[in-house]
Amino acid sequence: MQRLGKNLRGYAGETIDIDAVLRDCVAAARFHGWATEEIHPAPELILGFTRHASRLRHHTPRIYISTGIHGDEPAGPLALRQLLRENAWPAGLDLWLCPCLNPTGFAVNRRENREGHDLNRQYLATEAEETVAHIAWLSRQPSFDLCLCLHEDWESDGFYVYEQNPDHQPSLAEAMIARVGEVCPIDRSEVIEGRPARNGIIRPNIDPRTRPQWPEAFFLIMHKTRLSYTVEAPSDFPLAARVAALTAAVNTALESISRRHCAS
Ligand SMILES: [Zn+2]
Repeated sequence: MQRLGKNLRGYAGETIDIDAVLRDCVAAARFHGWATEEIHPAPELILGFTRHASRLRHHTPRIYISTGIHGDEPAGPLALRQLLRENAWPAGLDLWLCPCLNPTGFAVNRRENREGHDLNRQYLATEAEETVAHIAWLSRQPSFDLCLCLHEDWESDGFYVYEQNPDHQPSLAEAMIARVGEVCPIDRSEVIEGRPARNGIIRPNIDPRTRPQWPEAFFLIMHKTRLSYTVEAPSDFPLAARVAALTAAVNTALESISRRHCAS
């Protein structure tokens, strides 16, 4: 699979009708028994979907998945729509989904929201009302065993993943890379986004407390979880491959967590 070569100074690929995609997500979620709520009303419509496994076990793993925080990254909301429609979630997991954190950005195919905020830099010093509402909602939820943030990167030569795993739990990254590699190129550069990388995996050694601007993943690792992955699909490849990459990454991570807890 070759780069398309058309995303040279930013994302120049397909766009989506985010309102239609979110309507599809709500319809699929309700059909399959999810609870849906408005975290923030339209036009900055932020939705939260939750579904709990039946209470057969003492501890059900809790998984949080978000996407659509950058309005020029359509594969994430499309991937969550596909996963909601397929409804093939591994057994025994409690799930929280946010299918689009920046709807006004999608309306103009731009990374930032309508006011020009990069919402993925808002999670320490928060100005955007979308982020205020999202943090308030997150704070009402329990802690998570795993968080996944779905993104795209128009500069990269393939899929890659950032891992935050301060307790050195068994990593899910290698399994994700192996599975995604069947449907999408992997960026095997030794440096990605200025950070050392190996086989498409970045394990950044960053203390968020030293950083003035927090992405969502920093908030999550500081307040909500001890295992987080930011997965990045390469925007300069066909949209179908990027959606396949993100759904494969999510399915692999969830199957691994489900298996691990069923075995214990
Ligand atoms: Zn992004």
